[in-house]
This record gives sequence, C-alpha cells and structure tokens, in this order.
Amino acid sequence: MMLSIIIPCYNEEGAIPLLYKHVIDVLKEIGMSYELIFVNDGSKDNTLLQLKLLAKKDNHVKYISFSRNFGKESSMLAGLSYASGQAVIIMDADLQHPPLLIKEMINAFHAGYDQVIAKRTRTGDSVSKTFFAKMYYKIVNHLTDVEMVDGVGDFRLLSRKAVDALLSLKESNRFSKGLFSWIGFKQKIIEYENQERQVGETKWSLKKLFNYGVQGILSFNDKPLRITFQLGLVCVLMSFLYILWTFITILKEGVTVGGYFTTISAILVIGGVQLISIGVLGEYIGKIYYEVKKRPPYLIDDTNINVKESEHDIV
Ligand code: UDP
Ligand code: MG
Repeated sequence: MMLSIIIPCYNEEGAIPLLYKHVIDVLKEIGMSYELIFVNDGSKDNTLLQLKLLAKKDNHVKYISFSRNFGKESSMLAGLSYASGQAVIIMDADLQHPPLLIKEMINAFHAGYDQVIAKRTRTGDSVSKTFFAKMYYKIVNHLTDVEMVDGVGDFRLLSRKAVDALLSLKESNRFSKGLFSWIGFKQKIIEYENQERQVGETKWSLKKLFNYGVQGILSFNDKPLRITFQLGLVCVLMSFLYILWTFITILKEGVTVGGYFTTISAILVIGGVQLISIGVLGEYIGKIYYEVKKRPPYLIDDTNINVKESEHDIV
C-alpha cells in the first residue's frame, strides 16, 4: 500500500529541507511505501532548485512545477491528480502542519476512515483574527449547504475513494474547504495545537483572505441571490407603506414643505440595496464567466513524474 504526500510550495526554499527531514523521519518510522509530491506554484525564489536537488537524492521525491503562480487550490488539485497512493495527505510546506500527526492519520485510515481531518486550535492567533474567523464560519454555515468547521483546513488524509470523488468535481472556481465537506464519506477529526510558521512568511494578505471568504460563500449555493431578492421585496414593501402614509397625511393636512430628509434617505437606502444586489449578481456572473471558459486550472512547466498527459485531462 502506498501513501502520497502532497505539499504545495510557493516561495518555500527555506522551509523545504526542514519539512523534508521531519516528514521522512516520521515516514521511516511508519514503514509504508510513500511518495512526496511537491508542487512548485510558480515560486520566485529557489524552490524549484531545492526540489530538483531533493529529487536527485531521493527517488521518493516527485515535483510538479507550474508555469506561474496559480494559487494553492490549483497546487492541491495538481497534487491530487498526480498522486498514485491509496491514501493521500495534503500538508503545508511551512511546518505549521506537524508531520507527527501523519501516524495518527494513518491509524485512522486503517480503521476505515476516508477523510482524517486535522483541526487546529487558535492558540497564538490574534484576538481579532479569531473573532473574525468565528463570525465568518457562523455566516458561512448559515448561508451554505455544506458545513465548514473553524480550524479545519487543508491538512488531511484522503482515501483513494475521497480523492477520486474530489477529482470528479470539475468546477474551476475551487474552494476546497467546501469541496472536502461536500464529498462526505466517513470522517474523523483529530486536533492539534496551532503552530507558528517556521520559515518564510505567510502568503495571505487581508485582501486575499477577503476574496477567499467571498469565494467560500458564493461557490456553494445561490442563497445570496435569494437574499438580495428578499431584501428588494422588503424595500419595495416599505416604500409602498411610506407612500401610502405620506398620501394620507397629504389628504389630511395638505402639502407641507420639507421632506428633504425622507427623500434623501429613501434614495440612499434604495440606491445602496440596488448596488449590493448588482454586486451579488456580478459575482455570480463572474464565476459563470470563468467556468464557461474551461481554462485549465494550472499549466505545468516541468515535472519528474512520468505519466501520460491523457490520463490526466481532468478539466
Ligand atoms: N501556497 C501555494 N500557492 C500560493 C500560496 C501558498 O502553493 O499561492 C502554499 C504555501 O507554500 C504553503 C501553503 O500553501 O505551503 C500555505 O500557505 P501559507 O503558509 O502562506 O498560509 P497560512 O498558513 O498563513 O494560512
Ligand atoms: Mg502557513
């Protein structure tokens, strides 16, 4: 039985040797056959060189190198489609995902679980980040059809069944956190203490996080569309009541001057609601735009994996 470990890398030249050492130590202890698939996501540093050196030294090391930065979602997808193991583990390069957990994951896999999910505590995260994350998950779980758990990320073991299920989802706007939850299968959560990044720095800016958050909500259903529709209905109803009330006042007291405040508030509120609704529509249309183009989620520039391309036309 074979274990594949997928490691997306974007500017991780410093982290790779360290991660390699830790992972190999654990894998040797477990004693099953394995492959390490590093995906170089268009790094601007010497990540690819590091990977090539490792691959020369150790033939368990495979690498896939993209033609440019396509994002972690694409790196994971490439890793999944090239992995040949019966069990596949996805982990970050920065040692924030403790390799020691691999043992526990394998045990759970042998016990029959298809997804063994590592859940991190929020120790060490700032109070504001924790607060926003909690709030975000509340909103997301309310808005979407799949359940997403706070602290659960991409660090997980997937059985061949689960991997094939993920690969059968052809959408190009991928939000893995949601997809993992959507496919289902037998799942087990194991907790671990949050780790500081060992080398390098995080690739997440506030803007990226915001976009990722919006993607999470939009890629799972059309509830936001329905909400804007309901919001529109409420507005129309309120304006109708307001017009009726004004009309009755005019009948009773005649026309009085003024009304600036009410006019301007009405314009602002309705204008705002309209803009938000158009924005929501725009987001969905944007998603459709990318889906219909059917562009590949990534382009490979270099790899040491010898598989016929035809076996991997995943899009
Ligand atoms: N990553 C990637 N492509 C990107 C951004 C990140 O492959 O465009 C990889 C990165 O090298 C790391 C993992 O995704 O292995 C998680 O990134 P990071 O540690 O920056 O995220 P954080 O842990 O801060 O959420
Ligand atoms: Mg990290």
